[in-house]
Amino acid sequence: MQNIAGLSKLPALPFRKKTTYIEPMKKILVYPDEILRTEAKPVENIDGELQKLIDDMAETMYKAKGVGLAANQVGVLKRLFVMDISQGENGERGELVVLINPRIIGTEGQDVMEEGCLSVPGFSAKLKRPAVVCVKALDREGNEIELEGKGLFARCVLHELDHLDGICFVDRLSPIKKAMFRKRWQKIKAEQEPKV
Ligand code: ZN
Repeated sequence: MQNIAGLSKLPALPFRKKTTYIEPMKKILVYPDEILRTEAKPVENIDGELQKLIDDMAETMYKAKGVGLAANQVGVLKRLFVMDISQGENGERGELVVLINPRIIGTEGQDVMEEGCLSVPGFSAKLKRPAVVCVKALDREGNEIELEGKGLFARCVLHELDHLDGICFVDRLSPIKKAMFRKRWQKIKAEQEPKV
């Protein structure tokens, strides 16, 4: 935790420059990859290997300019995700939050927010979810933590937890919006095909 908090205070540019070629960036799986549709398993050991995965996931999330990234999205079926909802517009790092084996212990109200996903690049949609969420988890050292929040915090926790259950936000769209998504997604995919 301390180490990560320290890193987040480094100026964004030199840090990025230094790590661009050193830290491998994990490949982010794209919808509808089968691993994104698979439920992740609880983490049993918090060891060096897991902490390396957490570091790689955080790097990947920051480089992709995401606010959250679940292990499924980098092809690892373990129940953990990283998030940073306090990043600056230009990629300045805020506070990295690591949640291992997270479980929701309470929600309140409802909120409609525009949602996007690093695994569904180029598409976003409004979605209704609980407005406030209280979550229990282990941090990167294995300490039990309990966090409560609303707004983007609640949205991000619920979105990432869905990933761990094999659910992508587009799966939660209404049938009409889902049909619109399928059309739009075909177009986006066609545009992203490399033209040789
Ligand atoms: Zn996502």
